[in-house]
Amino acid sequence: MSIAILCGKDTEQAHHYQPYAKSFSTAITNADPMISVQTWPDITHPNDVEMALVWDYAAGELNKLHQLKCIVSLGAGVDHIMSDDSLPTNIPVVRIVDKYMVQDITQYVVATTLHYIKRFDHWDKCATQGEWAKQPPFKLDNIKVGIMGLGNLGGAAAKALSQLGITVSGWSRKKKNLSFIQSFSGKGELELFLSQTDILVCMLPLTPSTENILNHETFSQLPFGSYVINLGRGNHLVDNDLLGALETGQIAGATLDVFRQEPLPKNHPFWQHPNIRITPHIASVTNPKTAAKQIIENYHRLQLGKRLLHEVDIKAGY
Ligand code: NDP
Repeated sequence: MSIAILCGKDTEQAHHYQPYAKSFSTAITNADPMISVQTWPDITHPNDVEMALVWDYAAGELNKLHQLKCIVSLGAGVDHIMSDDSLPTNIPVVRIVDKYMVQDITQYVVATTLHYIKRFDHWDKCATQGEWAKQPPFKLDNIKVGIMGLGNLGGAAAKALSQLGITVSGWSRKKKNLSFIQSFSGKGELELFLSQTDILVCMLPLTPSTENILNHETFSQLPFGSYVINLGRGNHLVDNDLLGALETGQIAGATLDVFRQEPLPKNHPFWQHPNIRITPHIASVTNPKTAAKQIIENYHRLQLGKRLLHEVDIKAGY
């Protein structure tokens, strides 16, 4: 039996992903030298492959692995797998759920929300003009952060913010009973959640029901002059609706880590916008060493016919 790593939609992209794929194959074979790893497009023994580790892969390739028993997303998100129309059925999909990723994204959320709360945008603009324009930072208790998605990542970010004395609320499918936040759930409570949110952080998975959720209507339900931080996926955001809301001042600023097209094209208006901050999908990056541990654990569970860790609910899409 062997593991295959499939990254990249074509051979050119696979070449670009080569160092990334290599870091996983090295981490796996270092941790367990008995495991053999093949990397796409050089899968010479497809019938040996029982586990496929995938990221942004070429649809249809998984169907060539006739002994495949498990598909592993090399990240927390699985939208790149769920959008594969030829996804083999009845094969479990698992994802990486990692303490390291939780820490990584939590730090990003804390840094970006505090950036707005402490008015660093204002200070940066003043500094470029040599202006000494005092304006008190917002008080932590009168600015509210609302997190969309209270899962493994969003839940941890909500907790960290509340520990800093920030008022946090969260929105998810099912109601949460968490002492540190006010929980809102479902479409019926979205408007109320938004009406109480000054900084909106999207940490949702991309599914048919969350696609385009950061749109004109959503922005109009936030208080005037709110901020938006998108860490979910580019397809959560309707780009032109954000530009429009920034134009009217309904949205005062946005920090974006994910985009409809990545890398973000050079001529995209987001690059030049004075109130948009861009990071290149780095809010949380899978750590091959820590991820290898759970990949190997699942590999052994597969051999023993045991229940796999971090299995995705394929019907729900996350
Ligand atoms: P989880 O699956 O643990 O959590 C998802 C959360 O979203 C849950 O709280 C879920 O609700 C909620 N949710 C799902 N669908 C809906 C809906 N229709 N309406 C309301 N709430 C909904 O995911 P993670 O926290 O691990 O990751 C979230 C996403 O973060 C990933 O899918 C990925 O897209 C993104 N990500 C971005 C990274 C980056 O670097 N920018 C890095 C890693 C991940 P419930 O709890 O009720 O099920």
